[in-house]
Amino acid sequence: METVACNLCGSERARAVYEMPDRKFFRDEFFTVVECGRCGLGFVNPRPTLAEIQKYYPAKYYQNPSTTSHSRYLVRRFSAEASYLKPLENGNGRKRLLDVGCGNGEFPRFMVARGWEVEGVEIAKASQPITDFQIYTEEFDKIPVHEPRYDAVTAWAVMEHVHDPMAYIRKAAEVVKKGGLFVFLVQNFQSVASRHLFCEDVPRHLYFFTREAVKQYLEKTGFALEKEVNGRKIYKLAPYNWLGFIVRTRLLGKKYEFRDAPLTSKEFRSVYNLRPGLVTALKYAAYSPTMVLDRMLWPLIETAQILRETYGVSTFVGRKL
Ligand SMILES: [Zn+2]
Repeated sequence: METVACNLCGSERARAVYEMPDRKFFRDEFFTVVECGRCGLGFVNPRPTLAEIQKYYPAKYYQNPSTTSHSRYLVRRFSAEASYLKPLENGNGRKRLLDVGCGNGEFPRFMVARGWEVEGVEIAKASQPITDFQIYTEEFDKIPVHEPRYDAVTAWAVMEHVHDPMAYIRKAAEVVKKGGLFVFLVQNFQSVASRHLFCEDVPRHLYFFTREAVKQYLEKTGFALEKEVNGRKIYKLAPYNWLGFIVRTRLLGKKYEFRDAPLTSKEFRSVYNLRPGLVTALKYAAYSPTMVLDRMLWPLIETAQILRETYGVSTFVGRKL
């Protein structure tokens, strides 16, 4: 483990916000999420080193269901992602995209179909080697590109995973053409889900961004923040047990800690080794009756959050100056 200073402003003054375990793979290993006292950036501290973090990405982490509903979801997601690049599609010539954290290359291929030239960065081993476009397998800040050659760099749910977001954003500034875009999606550290409800994927998520922190990252590296879209069209961060949180903190005046958060239905199935189905759903309802009401009200709560721009996920567009 290593202890680090703030990646954005260098301050060593930070306060603990919450503690939670790795909910996915190592439920008895707890981590502390702190908040920089100067700029408000959130981060896991102390944290696993670059070598140690590998353990938290077992092969299982990369497995996706190969169902038709999953592929329909991907098409919806990629369309939403592509909409951010649409303003660049006018004008002459083919545009060039670099997708950081491109997985098996599905999003770049989606953009090829829209007429883009694409390249990708992926440090995780692909289940099928990518041969149809240029792929870099080192960390983004180490790729051997040193001039502005891309019209856009995208990073969907990547920046929260890396050990040095500043190095990544500086690299984006180095390789994006003047007037080009750096588009990235991260969780919103000001949302109730990220900050209070233990919905973060710690320690795979190492950084937690506020809009002010993002603005500063971009300004320090030569981008202007062009827009932020707060919403659930690409990735979701449901306000799990917001009702229990309100009751405990507002009505009872108590602290809400990780032990107060019920298992998610998926965790419940895995802990008790149950198959999805009606009986399991009833068992889960008996385990946590408030979660049934909680979930029923999600659409309402999420809509209200999006209107107030307090939802758990935001996409930021930086324009290279
Ligand atoms: Zn700071």
